[in-house]
Amino acid sequence: MAMIEFNDIHKWYGEFHVLKGISESVEKGEVLVICGPSGSGKSTFIRCLNRLEDIQKGSIMLEGRSIHDKAVDVNELRTEVGIVFQQFNLYPHLTVLQNVTLAPLKVRRVERIKAETVAMELLERVGIHDQAGKYPVELSGGQQQRVAIARALAMRPKVMLFDEPTSALDPEMINEVLNCMKDLAREGMTMLCVTHEMGFAREVADRVVFMDAGRVLEEASPAEFFTNPKHERTKAFLKEIL
Ligand code: ADP
Ligand code: MG
Repeated sequence: MAMIEFNDIHKWYGEFHVLKGISESVEKGEVLVICGPSGSGKSTFIRCLNRLEDIQKGSIMLEGRSIHDKAVDVNELRTEVGIVFQQFNLYPHLTVLQNVTLAPLKVRRVERIKAETVAMELLERVGIHDQAGKYPVELSGGQQQRVAIARALAMRPKVMLFDEPTSALDPEMINEVLNCMKDLAREGMTMLCVTHEMGFAREVADRVVFMDAGRVLEEASPAEFFTNPKHERTKAFLKEIL
């Protein structure tokens, strides 16, 4: 049994059929890179896994259980499936440390001293423990995004979703965020990453998924995907971004 199974999922925004039957299975520890033209449904697709978006047809299983089962608590689900957005979405009125400890304190009811110890370990892991007392506005974009990663990890998720986490960053900050993601991948985290960072895809993806107009048009190992794309649209896309 795969860790995650999307079975023929469909979604409409009103009349607009945005996801037209996507089926994917992801094994524990696998890293999927999802790419494709803007508007093809990449964000919508990954957001379905923690129910930031609902679906109208199909099913999504996480560790053998439907995420739409009545018994599933959506807040609990969102702790198991962490997400990092393009815009970092940190709480501006909280310090870095408070951003990372907030959910463990409120949702998990972890003791403060324990939450802070874990938070400091995570901040160290993403290389910014010396910034713990600062406010988001005092950090660079790359540092803020690393706080966002630490914040998601503080809930000990089983899966991490990344939605173009480096797209809003100045070029010199992209690698510091990609390096954190690479470390996470190497440590065995199951990850679904929407990104056009093809160097990252080559290095750590187990599979690259190419979406177009609400469908998965093509998927392959990075080696196969980059050297031998099958569809004309994939070729055109790669030509544009590489
Ligand atoms: P991508 O991440 O690949 O750029 P999205 O998943 O964000 O694509 O969006 C896919 C399509 O769905 C786009 O045409 C977008 O305009 C549309 N869309 C996204 N969110 C909404 C929404 N909340 N309501 C209506 N249409 C939406
Ligand atoms: Mg998107």
